[in-house]
Amino acid sequence: MSIEIGVIGMGYVGLTTALTFTSLGHIVHCYDNDTEKMARLARGEIMFFERGMEDALSSALTNSLLKVESGLAGGMLLSDIFFICVGSPPNEDGTVDISYVERAVSDLSIVLADVDDFRVVVVKSTVPPKTTVDVLGPLLSGISGKRIGVDVSICMCPEFFREGTSLMDSLHPDRLIFGTSDERSLSLLKKLYFPIDAPRFYTDPTTAEMIKYGSNSFLATKISFANEMANLCEVMGVDVDEVFEGISADARISPFFFTAGAGFGGSCFPKDVRGMVETASKKGVSMKLLRAVLEVNDVQYLRIFEKLTSLGELEGKKVAVLGLSFKSGTDDIRGSRSTLVVAELLGRGAMVSVYDKRALNNFRKIVFAGQVEYAITIVQALKNASVAIFMTDAEEFYLLTGSDILTLMAEPVVVDTRRIFAPGDLDGIEYHAIGRPRGP
Ligand code: NAD
Repeated sequence: MSIEIGVIGMGYVGLTTALTFTSLGHIVHCYDNDTEKMARLARGEIMFFERGMEDALSSALTNSLLKVESGLAGGMLLSDIFFICVGSPPNEDGTVDISYVERAVSDLSIVLADVDDFRVVVVKSTVPPKTTVDVLGPLLSGISGKRIGVDVSICMCPEFFREGTSLMDSLHPDRLIFGTSDERSLSLLKKLYFPIDAPRFYTDPTTAEMIKYGSNSFLATKISFANEMANLCEVMGVDVDEVFEGISADARISPFFFTAGAGFGGSCFPKDVRGMVETASKKGVSMKLLRAVLEVNDVQYLRIFEKLTSLGELEGKKVAVLGLSFKSGTDDIRGSRSTLVVAELLGRGAMVSVYDKRALNNFRKIVFAGQVEYAITIVQALKNASVAIFMTDAEEFYLLTGSDILTLMAEPVVVDTRRIFAPGDLDGIEYHAIGRPRGP
């Protein structure tokens, strides 16, 4: 049975969702209110880097499976099911701004008012628990005039992919969560996801929302825990990776995500943990552990500067910051710790050179215009630098040798936040790593 799908919001989640379904042979109608993004999509261009995505887009367009629509009416309404994939950024006070999701649901509800057949709306955006049932459902029925569960249905299916491997993760997820309130929408979702081999969890929308917030909060907790352990390992004279290898051998503890470094960033973890804390607080529940997770994260990047005290003042010294995205494998700089590091370096009067194979253009567009050197090669960034700070574990950094660094840099001091180099790799270089014993 062929199901036509509508996707609203064509950012990371929307495009991944759309291309997941086109690769399963479905027709997907997509819409974003950013007209430039839509024009580029129609030409096969993607506004961000994701492995394998350009090929998937090209194939979807060539096979006429992806229909780039200019509004929510017209072709979009051929969809049996609509996925809401718009952003849910943080407000200043840390609460979640659901206005984009509300707007998308309202706009869709207006056009659905004139549709006679049953339709399903699926919220994929991350929204605080109860949003789907208490806010979006009433909006949908109020504006469209349709009865929820009878003429129209609203569900919540959170997304768990990792940027950098989003398409692979979406086609081969660890699990699928279906947060539904009626049999009809659940049966459609089951058909749609039939080819995807993953454990399924059938629940209600609010539980689905909690699962998403709980998952991200726990992953962020693992990172803050790893960072606190790393900070202690340094003074205890042991290597944090070795410690976590031993810890992870316990079958009760998953080995993933104990990634000590400069702290977590990105568009999800900081805002979702904060969103969880604020949502709980509104209900009179204090999430002490998650507050501590954020507190640890907020200052972790400053460990880098504690390692540079031997250098004295940074004023006038060239510092290379290598890795600008919030993690390797993406060009997404949202919430990147490198932004904080660069701001701190500039505040201390350093001459900053920044490098990232993929994220340089995003960094150039948004932050520190004219204040830093945007190096287009690692060599340019390192040349005559006094300090090199490795912020991500990008593959190309592993190719650098001690002699490259000695030849290029002025008075080489290396801060390795992700332990790219093995102890002993950088003889003759002042080397500091997060989570490794401090030097003499
Ligand atoms: P994004 O900023 O990349 O994309 C959002 C898109 O929605 C933008 O292109 C924007 O133009 C569009 N948009 C906003 N309002 C619209 C409207 N009314 N109509 C049509 N389009 C509209 O965001 P993203 O990273 O794809 O995240 C989307 C949601 O998914 C968020 O709630 C996020 O928390 C969640 N999420 C993100 C990830 C991730 O790794 N990026 C993973 C899981 C869940």
